[in-house]
Amino acid sequence: MNFDQLTGRTKDHLTWSDKLGFFIYPPAEIDLINLKKRAWKNGFDLQIASGFRNYERQKVIWNDKVLGKRPVLDRDSNPISPEKLKPYDLVLKILNWSALPGASRHHWGTDFDIYCLKSLPRDYKLQLTPQEFAPGGVLFSFGSWLRENLQDFNFFCPYLKDRGGVLPEPWHIGHGPSSTKFIASYTSEIYLQNLLESDLELRSILQEKALILYQNYFLKISPNPWGTQSIS
Ligand SMILES: [Zn+2]
Repeated sequence: MNFDQLTGRTKDHLTWSDKLGFFIYPPAEIDLINLKKRAWKNGFDLQIASGFRNYERQKVIWNDKVLGKRPVLDRDSNPISPEKLKPYDLVLKILNWSALPGASRHHWGTDFDIYCLKSLPRDYKLQLTPQEFAPGGVLFSFGSWLRENLQDFNFFCPYLKDRGGVLPEPWHIGHGPSSTKFIASYTSEIYLQNLLESDLELRSILQEKALILYQNYFLKISPNPWGTQSIS
């Protein structure tokens, strides 16, 4: 994996999937198709809300949040005002829910945000919040099913619980055998180089705190059963 592939600056590591209708890292394709098939057999209509996302797309999300054009959410998914926070606190709040552009697992084509279409009431607007996956939430039964079945198709949830970095995202799944190769190649030097080559809002504080951010918001994931690099 080269710098551009790791940081979302190219998609030349991906192929178009006719069956899925988006670009994907090839080894993940058949497993994702089979996970969808199992879901359907079990009464769920598994849909992908978000798969591959490039650097530019993630940059728009990041800069919009810093500039107050897109809501920044607290731990309970309530909006907070960016102007009330010191720059570094704002960085940490954004990183709770949004990856640093260039350091998102969505750049690899191995990770997906998923939901069950059938579980949503008519005219419901999907938000992808922990509340939706909690007991009583519209996606609770889908989430329970997912946790019991995803390993059969080589997937795992990297953000299942709060490890002091990214907050729980039960809708985010990663293809274990594929994503482990990307994260193993993604050194702290790559993380820094990505920042040096970026034009992000709050770039100077990001560079200053790069090492701690790399550890807490990038490396800290649930153990990947197909990898050896996870920090628990
Ligand atoms: Zn995600």
